[in-house]
Amino acid sequence: MSDMTVQEMQAARVLDGVAVAAEIKAEAGLEVAALKAQGIQPGLAVVLVGDLAASGIYVRSKRKTCAELGIYSELLTPDESVTTEEMLALIAGLNARDEIDGILIQLPLPRHVDTRRLLEAVLPEKDVDGFHPVNAGRLQTGRPALAPCTPAGILEILRRSEIEVHGKYAVVVGRSNIVGKPAAVMLVNASATVTVCHRFTPDLARYTREADILVVAVGRPELITPEMVKPGAVLIDVGINRITDAAEVERLFPGDAARAEGFQKRGSTVVGDIAPEAFRLASAYTPVPGGVGALTIAMLMQNTVTAAKLRRGLVMG
Ligand code: NAD
Repeated sequence: MSDMTVQEMQAARVLDGVAVAAEIKAEAGLEVAALKAQGIQPGLAVVLVGDLAASGIYVRSKRKTCAELGIYSELLTPDESVTTEEMLALIAGLNARDEIDGILIQLPLPRHVDTRRLLEAVLPEKDVDGFHPVNAGRLQTGRPALAPCTPAGILEILRRSEIEVHGKYAVVVGRSNIVGKPAAVMLVNASATVTVCHRFTPDLARYTREADILVVAVGRPELITPEMVKPGAVLIDVGINRITDAAEVERLFPGDAARAEGFQKRGSTVVGDIAPEAFRLASAYTPVPGGVGALTIAMLMQNTVTAAKLRRGLVMG
């Protein structure tokens, strides 16, 4: 790309995930209030196995957000040694309780537990993570479904930022069941033309360079470099990578005082999968942190409210 083109380009718009998440949460809070007026309080059960510090942080912030919005929440903390059978019994209990609308099993689970069996044991109507094959199938066939929170957040930030998806060429890098695959399905449902790339895609740049909307969910810093981006593209960076090397932070964010200060305080900084330089070519992008990550909990709240309504026939199933 010539320098001329760079100069002619407008500054990239930052898509503020925190602000969009606040909007979604406020709307979910209003829905909760309306349900409460009908004597219904949406309820979320969170199952956290063992003592995984990182998962504990996520769980705390999920429960805190429930409290803010008036959603009932309950934390179940089976011991690390819990068996698959015991977990199945626990899930069956939650499936049967009317005041529980959503069941969230915090991943990862200990290796001796059969994660797939457990996720499939959650009633699809209470599967607020959208991981059950029934919900994946509903999503695939374009029927109302509880959709996985992170890709749902991506579509929501695009919609609320008035970024056209219809008729655009979208490339999704990453094909996990949690992010990449459902993101691709949702983009197709929104009438984009979609290519999914993954670790075995030869010549990744061949696809990413053509993308009007590029969604990257891999977990590798700087996987996407400026040469791999079409000028004016919309960049959605889902990756979460923790950098602990001061020199690396300075190389990636030269002269960025806020980054340097945050790094000094915490001893690490979080970056996505797209090189910071590549963002300058975009028409719009989600930053890391403060982009897609901020939306995931908001979408979980939204799903819990939707589950409460769906189960009571208050919205079309
Ligand atoms: P995953 O490990 O399940 O999947 C990674 C995908 O990347 C795989 O499909 C793999 O084929 C692909 N991949 C690996 N190396 C590649 C390469 N060199 N070129 C192209 N593709 C490659 O991960 P995941 O659960 O989908 O998460 C992906 C990233 O998104 C991680 O950094 C994770 O922390 C982050 N994440 C963020 C949120 C959020 O709320 N923002 C939620 C979930 C995951």
